[in-house]
Amino acid sequence: MASYEHFEEYNIKVKEEVQNNYSTILDGIGEDVTREGLVKTPERASKAMMFLTQGYEQDAVEILKGAMFKEDYDDMVIIKDIELYSLCEHHMLPFFGKAHVAYIPNGHIVGLSKIPRVVDVFARRLQVQERLTHDILECINNTLKPKGVAVVIEASHMCMMMRGVQKQNSVTTTSGFRGQFEKQETRNEFLKLISSSLS
Ligand SMILES: [Zn+2]
Repeated sequence: MASYEHFEEYNIKVKEEVQNNYSTILDGIGEDVTREGLVKTPERASKAMMFLTQGYEQDAVEILKGAMFKEDYDDMVIIKDIELYSLCEHHMLPFFGKAHVAYIPNGHIVGLSKIPRVVDVFARRLQVQERLTHDILECINNTLKPKGVAVVIEASHMCMMMRGVQKQNSVTTTSGFRGQFEKQETRNEFLKLISSSLS
């Protein structure tokens, strides 16, 4: 309990610091921080930013380890269309899209709901899409030690869409493959399965 209280105290302090800094930003862009609509904005923005970066406080390895089960199943397991929201570390603007994750078990499977949670832990930080892809891939590979793991992320970046860069609707795709997915045949099967809609 003591450590939880300590954590709460720490959070309140951080929230207030971030809040004060948001006031300064509002002032800096020429806004009147005392007008009605903005009075509570620094506090709301601070809470939102802390929520969107809570992944720093979370441990993806523990999440996976808490739900690993011995199982002989050794075909490809695919979790596709995982909703993803992150913040680019260059502009602190959102990028969002979908992650597709697959692995081939090697004696252990993991509770299916844990894979989207792992995606969230790494997405709720300041990121670049390439590193996010890599973080998810390596975490699953090193923890679950499967025969293979694959991660594909398709995302739209607000820093491209809102800042007048052309091709506003472009989607950035990143991917990473380990183990059996490094073989073209397995990789192709995975890519075919995530691009087809079964419904
Ligand atoms: Zn950016």
